[in-house]
Amino acid sequence: MRRVVVVVLDGMRRDLISEAHTPALMRFANRAQTFTAHRSMFPSATRVVSASFATGCFPGRHELQGNSLALLENGELVHHDAGHPEFLQHKRCITGRALGVPTLAERLKHNGGSILFSNVSPGAAYAHDPDGHGFIYHRAGSFGPGRQRLETPQALQITQDAAGERVMTGRFIDEVLFERRPALALLWMGEPDASQHLCPLGSPQHMAALRQADTNAARVVEAVDRLRDQGDEVLMVVCSDHGHQTVFRIVDVEAELVAAGLKQSCQSRDVVTATSGTSTLVYVHPDWAGRVGEIGAFLDSRDWVDRVIGPGELDSVGQKPNHGLAFAVSLKSDEEPNQYGIKGRSMEARPAAGKADHLGCGQHGGLARYEQMPLLMIEGAGFAEGTLSDAPTSPIDIAPTILAHLRQPAQDMDGRRLQADQCHKPRSAPHNSDSAK
Ligand SMILES: [Zn+2]
Repeated sequence: MRRVVVVVLDGMRRDLISEAHTPALMRFANRAQTFTAHRSMFPSATRVVSASFATGCFPGRHELQGNSLALLENGELVHHDAGHPEFLQHKRCITGRALGVPTLAERLKHNGGSILFSNVSPGAAYAHDPDGHGFIYHRAGSFGPGRQRLETPQALQITQDAAGERVMTGRFIDEVLFERRPALALLWMGEPDASQHLCPLGSPQHMAALRQADTNAARVVEAVDRLRDQGDEVLMVVCSDHGHQTVFRIVDVEAELVAAGLKQSCQSRDVVTATSGTSTLVYVHPDWAGRVGEIGAFLDSRDWVDRVIGPGELDSVGQKPNHGLAFAVSLKSDEEPNQYGIKGRSMEARPAAGKADHLGCGQHGGLARYEQMPLLMIEGAGFAEGTLSDAPTSPIDIAPTILAHLRQPAQDMDGRRLQADQCHKPRSAPHNSDSAK
C-alpha cells in the first residue's frame, strides 16, 4: 500500500538541530533528503502555513491571510483571531467558503482518506479540513466526515504540554498508522513552538522541549520502519512550519497609526491592523482608500519596519488585496545573539488586548532569517538517501508531493512536487524567497 506519514515539529528552526539535542532528527537526515533552502510562508505563522500545507496554495488563494486578519462584513472591517475554533465556520458564513481552494482532506476523501492529530491552536488544526472531509483530532474538539463530532473515548483529550504530546504520538502510531491506515497520516506537534514562545531560545527549558519533540518524532520513524517491513510503500515527511526569532522590542502599531492621525481610534474600523507576531497586516476600509498613500509613507518612515509590501506588490509574497488588505509589514530584525547565543532578533507587533507579548522569548510571523528557516526532510521514492537539496521549497510544495506519491492528480496548486524528476521545474506562482534578506 502507498501511503504518506508526516510529522510536523511546530516552530523547529533547522539550524538548532544537533547531535546533543535532536539526535533522532540527525539520524533521520542520514536516510532522507534534506531541503536546505526551505522557507515558510508570509506571514510565517502556523495558521497560514497549515492552510498552505493543506491546499498547496499561497494565502492569496486559500484566503487565510494571517494568524489574525480582517474580513469585510456587511460593509465593516472586522478583526478576527484565526486561531479561534469557530473562525473558519464564521468565514464560510461571511464569504461563502471556509478556504478558497480544496484541501488534501477533500482531494483524498475517496482515495484512502486523511487523519490529522494536532496539538496547536484549534484554528490552525481545523484549517486542514474546515469542511469535514476527513478526520481531525484536537483537544478543542475532534471531528469525522461531515464535521461529525467525535465523543470520548475517540476524542483527543490531551493537554498542551509534554505529557499531551506523548499521549497524542502514541495514539497516532497505534490507531492511525497500524489500525486505520489512511493514505495520509499527519501528526502536528505543538512543540517546540509552545516552549519557544514561553522561554528564551537556547534556555534549558527550550532544550528539554527540543529533546522531547525529537523523541516523539523518533517513535514515528521507528513505526514507519515497521510499516515498511510489512510491505507498505511509505513516503515519510519530517518538517516544521516556521522558525523563531528572539523578541527584543514591542511595537504598538495600532497606537502609532492613531497618534499619526491615520486611524480614528484604537477601536475604529477605518483602518485595522492584524498581527502575526513579527509581522502585521494593515487593512484600509474602501471608504478610506484615499489614505493608503499616506499610510504607506508613514510605515516606510518607521524605525521598526524592515519591509512594507504595498497594495500593488502583495502578489510578490503570495497575498492578495482582499477584504481591504493594503499592506503586509515585516518588522525589523537583526543577527544579534540572545543570552544563550542563539542568533536572530526581531521586533514584535503588540498582540491584541488580553494576550501576552513575548519579549525575550521566541516569536515569528515575518520574513527574517531564522523564522524563515523551517525544517524539511523527506524519505521515500523519488528522494535520495542522506542528501542535501538547495532547491527553493516552501509549504505549498508538500501537498503536491504527497499527492504524487499517492498517484493522485494535483491540479490547480501553486506548489510543485519535489520528487527528483520535478525538482528543477520553474514555479508558476510567486515565491517569497525573492524577499530573502
Ligand atoms: Zn507554528
